[in-house]
Amino acid sequence: QLYNLVQDLKGTIRVYCRVRPFLPGQSDGQSTVDYIGENGNIMIANPYKQGKDARRVFAFNKVFATNVTQQQIYADTQPLVRSVLDGYNVCIFAYGQTGSGKTYTMSGPDLNMEDTWGVNYRALRDLFEISKARVDFIEYEVGVQMIEIYNEQVRDLLVIDGSNRRYPFRIYFYIRNNSQLNGLNVPDACLVPVKCTQDVLDLMKIGQKNRAVGATALNERSSRSHSVLTVHVRGKELLSGSILKGCLHLVDLAGSERVDKSEAVGERLKEAQHINRSLSALGDVISALAQKSTHIPYRNSKLTQVLQDSLGGHAKTLMFVHINPEVNSIGETISTLKFAERVA
Ligand code: ADP
Ligand code: MG
Repeated sequence: QLYNLVQDLKGTIRVYCRVRPFLPGQSDGQSTVDYIGENGNIMIANPYKQGKDARRVFAFNKVFATNVTQQQIYADTQPLVRSVLDGYNVCIFAYGQTGSGKTYTMSGPDLNMEDTWGVNYRALRDLFEISKARVDFIEYEVGVQMIEIYNEQVRDLLVIDGSNRRYPFRIYFYIRNNSQLNGLNVPDACLVPVKCTQDVLDLMKIGQKNRAVGATALNERSSRSHSVLTVHVRGKELLSGSILKGCLHLVDLAGSERVDKSEAVGERLKEAQHINRSLSALGDVISALAQKSTHIPYRNSKLTQVLQDSLGGHAKTLMFVHINPEVNSIGETISTLKFAERVA
C-alpha cells in the first residue's frame, strides 16, 4: 500500500469561504455576516436593504468564521496537497477584494513566525515530511516556480542571475500546454530544486523582492497581479522504476474589486480591465468544468492557460473566497459571494 489515493476529490471543485476578522480600530462596526451555519452556509445582512432583500444565504463546501486559525484552515486543505505526491495536479486559489485576507491565507502575515504560516508554507513542509516518510519506496524530487501575471504578461519572480539585471523581470509570452510537461506550462521560467522548508523560505524572499521592483509599493502592485507558486513533484518508485508527476499551483489572485470606470484612467484603467477579464475568464473555466461542459474556454486568459492541465480532468481545485465583515464592503462582499456561488 504505497499510495494513499484520494479519489473522492478528483475532478471536483470545492469552495471554502473565509471571513476576515475586524482589524484593530474597525471593531466598533456592525458586521455584514449575520450567521454561519454548520453545513457551509453563510447569511449576509445588507444594511442598505429592507425586508426580504436585506438577507441572503450563500452555500459553499465550508465557511470559516473569523476565529478559525491558520492550522485549522490547513487541516481542511491537507488531503488535496498530499495527493500531489500520488501524481495529482491541484490548484488552490485565493479570491477576494483587496484587504480581505488572500495573502494571509496563502502566505500568512509573517514568514518568521511559523505559527502564522499560511497554506503555502504548510503545504511545502507537509510535502517534505511525507516524502521523507516514503523514502524507502519512492524517491521524490521537488522543484518550485514562481511567476506573476500582470496586465496579461507572465513574469518570472525567481530570476536570480545577474545577466537579467537590466530588466526588472524576464517576460514570457510563451505558454505551452503539453501533456508531456504536466503542469510545466511556462517551461522557460526558473524551476528551482528545493529540499527543505528553509530553501522555500529563501526563495520566497527573492520572489517577494523581485515582485516589489518597479512598483510604487509592494501592496499596491501585489493587489493588481496574480501570483502563482507552482510546486512540481517527481517521484520514482524504487521497486518498479516507474515515475509519477504531480503539481500544486498556489495562486494569490489579484484583488477582485470593481474599479469605477469614471475614476480610473490610463495605467490604472488598463490594469483594472486586465484583472476583470482574467478573473471572469477563470470563473468561466471553473463554472464550465463544474457543469461538465464540453467546451472549456481556457484560452481567454494567461492565467487559465498557465493552469490549463491542472484545472479539470483528473485535477482537483480548491477556491478560498475571502470576505470582509465591514458594512462599507457590502457591495464587494455580495459580488465575491456571487462569483463563488457560480463556480461552486
Ligand atoms: P489581501 O491579500 O486580500 O489584500 P491581506 O491578506 O493582506 O489581504 O489582509 C489584509 C489585512 O488583514 C492584513 O493586515 C492581514 O494581516 C489582516 N488579516 C487578514 N486575514 C486575517 C485573519 N484571518 N486574521 C487576522 N488578520 C487577518
Ligand atoms: Mg494580498
